[in-house]
Amino acid sequence: MTIKYKSVKEFKEMISQKEISNKEIIQEVFNLIDDNKGLNAFITLNEENSIKKAEYFDNNPSELSLAGIPIAQKDLFCTKGLRTTCGSNILNNFVPPYTATVIENLENAGCISVGKTNMDEFAMGSSNETSFFGNVHNPWGENLVPGGSSGGAAAAVAAGIVPAASGTDTGGSIRQPASLCGITGIKPTYGRISRWGMIAFASSLDQAGPMARTAEDCAILLNEMCSHDEKDTTSLDETVPNFQENLNKPLKGKKIGIVKDLDLSNLDNDVVEVFENSLKEFQSLGADLVDISLPNLALSVPTYYVVAPAECSSNLSRFDGVKFGRRSEHTKDLEELYVNTRSEGFGDEVKRRILIGSYVLSAGYYDAYYKKAQQVRRLIKNDFENAFSNVDVIMTPTTRGPAFEIGSKGNDPIQMYLEDLFTISANLAGLPALSLPNGFIDNKPIGLQIIGNFLDESSILNFAHMYQSETNWHMHTPEGIK
Ligand code: GLN
Repeated sequence: MTIKYKSVKEFKEMISQKEISNKEIIQEVFNLIDDNKGLNAFITLNEENSIKKAEYFDNNPSELSLAGIPIAQKDLFCTKGLRTTCGSNILNNFVPPYTATVIENLENAGCISVGKTNMDEFAMGSSNETSFFGNVHNPWGENLVPGGSSGGAAAAVAAGIVPAASGTDTGGSIRQPASLCGITGIKPTYGRISRWGMIAFASSLDQAGPMARTAEDCAILLNEMCSHDEKDTTSLDETVPNFQENLNKPLKGKKIGIVKDLDLSNLDNDVVEVFENSLKEFQSLGADLVDISLPNLALSVPTYYVVAPAECSSNLSRFDGVKFGRRSEHTKDLEELYVNTRSEGFGDEVKRRILIGSYVLSAGYYDAYYKKAQQVRRLIKNDFENAFSNVDVIMTPTTRGPAFEIGSKGNDPIQMYLEDLFTISANLAGLPALSLPNGFIDNKPIGLQIIGNFLDESSILNFAHMYQSETNWHMHTPEGIK
């Protein structure tokens, strides 16, 4: 019995039917991790504890909804007693004294956290090339990036090592790697999932979410991941619906917004063709296409690259070698301790963001950059509000193309930043958005983005699940159709 490429739903069945023991599952996961070492998807493994938990479930059969399900956790979530690096040298030796709420929620539901996945340093990147622990390889091609920043998570799921992984998305880091690795991932509404214990990059944009093989699995995981948390003041005090409830609702008469302001003409024909084929599929499921306008959409990347660095420069000021993490050994006095710890501990991309962030927040430039960006952010949010008075969801391609070669964009930050052209606006507006596999270009998977209205993850998951009930793009694996 192999567990490779199985979905969360299939795992639940295998476990409840006792087709395989919990311990066998975990042993198999670690064999798969070993077979796929070349991907560099994991930074730290949690083997001993995982086996113990599996043995516990074998001896004490559990009714918990995710009992025994192996999950890979992005190395940005604090895990008590288990090293948490955020992909950075500065946290190379950091072992948190507490566990992030979202991880606790998953573990309380029975999940087994098998290890911590590789990621761009402090979640800054779109290719997993900024990790201190080396880049991750895409299971669809050794020389290809998996996307980022949740690149290790996406690679681990795409390679069939685990059925699901946690990710975070500040400007696209769940959806873009999901697109490039041919899996499904959703960033829920800002505030749905507690950020407590999630190492902050840009606090007003960061949101955790599940990455899995199917929309149905994402719904199953979201049910457990979302919660109101008093420890996070931005956590929403809203009832968490059962996200599985509406998955099979017919799409007849539902409206899909198509963004007329999006200039698809400079995209590859193939990307446009894949996108349009998906729209036809939704039409054949009964949905209607409606033109909508998001006039300020083109400003989302520049707006993000003021707001996100500003927040990151503030959030990352806590890494100074005094309170936690790595401290430089070459210091004579306090000032050198700060300077050398940060100079040695942070990589180039993180330093670039801190510089930009400090600049846009500085006295002479605050009004011209930061304040202006916040104003534009509001305009973008208003555009979405108007659009959603007319449609149920909005669809765009997730990315401008499929996975690119490792090293091909690393020297050009602007090209790299444009990777998130289609994803960033949902973060600026705080809206839920999902990516699912909807085709191939040159044998490489690519994704479709579905953006939903505030708190309306259910509609997104409904569209995605109906699509996956009619198509089999999500069943393709790097080794063939599952
Ligand atoms: N690629 C974007 C960035 O580098 C988004 C990253 C993210 O969502 N964490 O900022």
